[in-house]
Amino acid sequence: MITDVQPRKADILTRVHAPHDIRELKNVTSTSDRDYLPELRVSDGKTGNKIACVENRGKGKGAGDNPLTQTLEAALKKYFGYDNFRYPQEEVINSVLRGKDVLAILATGGGKSLCYQIPAIFRKGGMTLVISPLIALMKDQVSDLNERGINAFAWTSECSLSEVERIKTSAKKGELQLVYVSPERAVMPSFLREISSWPVQCIAVDEAHCISLWGHQFRPEYCDLVIIKAKFPDIPIIAVTATATPMVQKEIIERLRLNAPDLFIGSFNRTNLNYKVRSRKNAYLDILSYMRMNKEHSGIIYCTSKKDVGELSRKLRKDGQKAIPYHAGLSYKEREINQELFRTGKAKIICATVAFGMGINKPDVRFVFHYGMPKSVEQYYQETGRAGRDGKEAECILYYERSEYFRLRALIRTDNSQEAFKKVSLAKLEQMLQYCETRDCRRKNLLAYFGEEANSDTCEQCDNCLSLPGEKKTGIKSWKNKNQDTHQKISSIMEIRS
Ligand SMILES: [Zn+2]
Repeated sequence: MITDVQPRKADILTRVHAPHDIRELKNVTSTSDRDYLPELRVSDGKTGNKIACVENRGKGKGAGDNPLTQTLEAALKKYFGYDNFRYPQEEVINSVLRGKDVLAILATGGGKSLCYQIPAIFRKGGMTLVISPLIALMKDQVSDLNERGINAFAWTSECSLSEVERIKTSAKKGELQLVYVSPERAVMPSFLREISSWPVQCIAVDEAHCISLWGHQFRPEYCDLVIIKAKFPDIPIIAVTATATPMVQKEIIERLRLNAPDLFIGSFNRTNLNYKVRSRKNAYLDILSYMRMNKEHSGIIYCTSKKDVGELSRKLRKDGQKAIPYHAGLSYKEREINQELFRTGKAKIICATVAFGMGINKPDVRFVFHYGMPKSVEQYYQETGRAGRDGKEAECILYYERSEYFRLRALIRTDNSQEAFKKVSLAKLEQMLQYCETRDCRRKNLLAYFGEEANSDTCEQCDNCLSLPGEKKTGIKSWKNKNQDTHQKISSIMEIRS
């Protein structure tokens, strides 16, 4: 019976170790947690077993001589127009093709979808089932694949009966290469019965961090995916995500019941992003000065409430800026229009809540500002990760004041969540506070959060590293930089005014 293997949500929540203070959290996510993980080692390019990559590298050794590589690259060129794979895409694809379970954590813009799309195209007569959290995401991917001549379909609640019948018939005949479904549908008994007659060769779980209580976008329905492995033990699963701390990695592996998975961890270091934290006190003037001096720049300003989104976008428009709002309180149509205005560059600035961003693929976002403190480092990392996808330099400035931390802490303490969830949320907030107030390199702080060691103690790109030599670093107030670029001049002006 399918229901026999379904987890009880209460069990899942209580099984998680919830830390009581930040020191304990650090222990969990840095050392002891690694004991749970599969062995991590860097591939030598020959053995190709467990692979971890914590630095940006070129292609694997000898890749170009391999006939399989040449075939995969031909498919990559034919369908996606790229000449070469980015590291470690090809290594991930090889693991999938060998029938291994895989967990791949590739930073935003790292091409994680290709890791399951290429094997789906490559294998003839079989299909890949993709579990994805949002209908909008599924539709985007499917229409993109269809335009490239790939037979993909999204089976959603919006499908008509005749469409569903068409999917079923085509899937059974092996005519579909990829079928996208939500986690809710993926565990429906009727759906599981249906796909048992499909030639499913691989199951891909996208945005796999949603399965983790420690992840920043926990979705309880992802936890039910545990039954997939029980029902189809011989079908390999590939789980992909852009952000996962060691604790989240462990949860993904456990809850999806991945069998001795190959683990790939791309670097979290986005070298083209400049991280800064500034006082919230003068945030508006600082933002306005930036806009006036960088008229061509397009970017996102994340706010902590719908009210802030409305007020800030109105104020910016009054001051001559093309700023538009985006939050869950707007109608679907309004959100769609505003997203399109931003995507096409007709509106340069989008003021948004956390509701904005998943599935947005705008390469030339030059800044991501936070007009208030995010609730976790993952959230901050994911949101800033929407800047500079074209590889060019981009600014990430967080406007912070400590009172915001106290406000968020009080909110978490008084909400109606389970105690374990509250403890996790509080611990995450503490780490966000630590990021805001650190006097050390912010990049190093971010990387450490994800279990990655920075190459050096200073990145020479964040506000703390750019503080004048000999000057006492003061966390949020280190505004003076040794580089005299435009934006740093504004900062100095703002400092004098304050
Ligand atoms: Zn730094």
